Amino acid sequence: MKQNTEAWRALDAAHHLHPFSDTKGLNAQGARVITRAEGIYLWDSEGNQIIDGMAGLWCVNIGYGRKDLAEVAKRQMEELAYYNTFFKTTNPQVAELSKLLAEVAPDGFEHVFYTNSGSESVDTMIRMVRHYWSSVGKPEKKVLIGRWNGYHGSTIGGASMGGMTYMHEQGDLPIPGIVHVEQPWYYKHGKDMTPEEFGLAAARWIEDKILEVGADKVAAFVGEPIQGAGGVIIPPATYWPEVERICRKHDILMVCDEVICGFGRTGQWFGHELYGVKPDLFTTAKGLSSGYLPIGAVFVGERVAQGLIEHGGDFNHGFTYSGHPVCCAVARANVTALRDEGIVARVREETGPYMQAKWRETFGQFEHIDDVRGVGLIQAFTLVKDKQKRALFDNWGTMGLACRDIFFRENLIMRACGDHIVAAPPLVISKPEIDEMLGRAAR
Ligand code: PLP
Repeated sequence: MKQNTEAWRALDAAHHLHPFSDTKGLNAQGARVITRAEGIYLWDSEGNQIIDGMAGLWCVNIGYGRKDLAEVAKRQMEELAYYNTFFKTTNPQVAELSKLLAEVAPDGFEHVFYTNSGSESVDTMIRMVRHYWSSVGKPEKKVLIGRWNGYHGSTIGGASMGGMTYMHEQGDLPIPGIVHVEQPWYYKHGKDMTPEEFGLAAARWIEDKILEVGADKVAAFVGEPIQGAGGVIIPPATYWPEVERICRKHDILMVCDEVICGFGRTGQWFGHELYGVKPDLFTTAKGLSSGYLPIGAVFVGERVAQGLIEHGGDFNHGFTYSGHPVCCAVARANVTALRDEGIVARVREETGPYMQAKWRETFGQFEHIDDVRGVGLIQAFTLVKDKQKRALFDNWGTMGLACRDIFFRENLIMRACGDHIVAAPPLVISKPEIDEMLGRAAR
């Protein structure tokens, strides 16, 4: 394996354009070659054991190396490797998965639409809410409101819905009909308020935007319950209930993007359940199959589902692999395991609280670390210039990348989102493994 490393690096450098990477810089350095994984651990081609504190890209909720999922995939490939769900056909796996998802979702989510990724779930949602409004006689309701630093994917729709300006700069985004409001980041934007006051104020930025655009033109507000790639921004408890109240008042659909928060990450099945709110739709992917195969799903609440079913006619949208039998079979085995092995409950009651306590103990006492935070198994801290003033460093992101690289050299993967350092390990992480992970971080 070791002797192949240089050969793989050379092939990769010669032919592979990496996502979210500066190819020139990467090629000069050479990519680390990951060859194997088990539980929370990865191994590279040089034999190093790495702790994956990010569950891949926030997705391997069930942990690596589950032979039962591999078996399910093999069996399903032999039985029915593929057939589509477009033209009056279905398959047993998609039907059974849909029932299971309705069971684990909060009441009132009886319908799902399948995609292959989070970005496709977001694009599907954009088209679906516009089609819904047009089907119920309000075609002028088209505008979607997202948030700065929200992340909703890389497709043209997803990147537009997201509020990452560095993505907007490439490809002339956002597309028309998508606007943004400030993120509910208390540490930066709420200095003169209590968290509760700030939650209400931040929600009212959405109302200001609704009034600016005109409520009769706004289709939906879209937000991650906890912003993930935006830096694990956990809004105060008052935020989401106020967002819900505002959306109801102006007859605007409330959409939660659960691509990261969904399937147990926060200790609840879905992140919005933390806040006691009920979105009209929510988008998922990642933890649905724990990354074992690509699949996403848009959960559609009763109001929108009935509107579409009764009045929508053909929804001219779908993917060759929507409801793919192998992906559905694996997702089904994954969600069943998350439920029947008590993994989501353990995050809520045991490993989540333990991680929070250890996270604070490990990072709470440094001069340039502040806003140490987390819920369930998603946590973060922010590198700051001056704690007293809550002042951030000038070159936003530079310190974060340096810090991330130090962890990487220690064979620990955590991620920098600007100067926020974030972690989201597989949900199967044990207490001793949490100790090991944070021990490596503190070395
Ligand atoms: N939505 C959220 C909240 C995400 O975090 C992501 C990916 O990180 C996406 C959408 C896009 O998902 P994908 O990369 O599967 O297209």
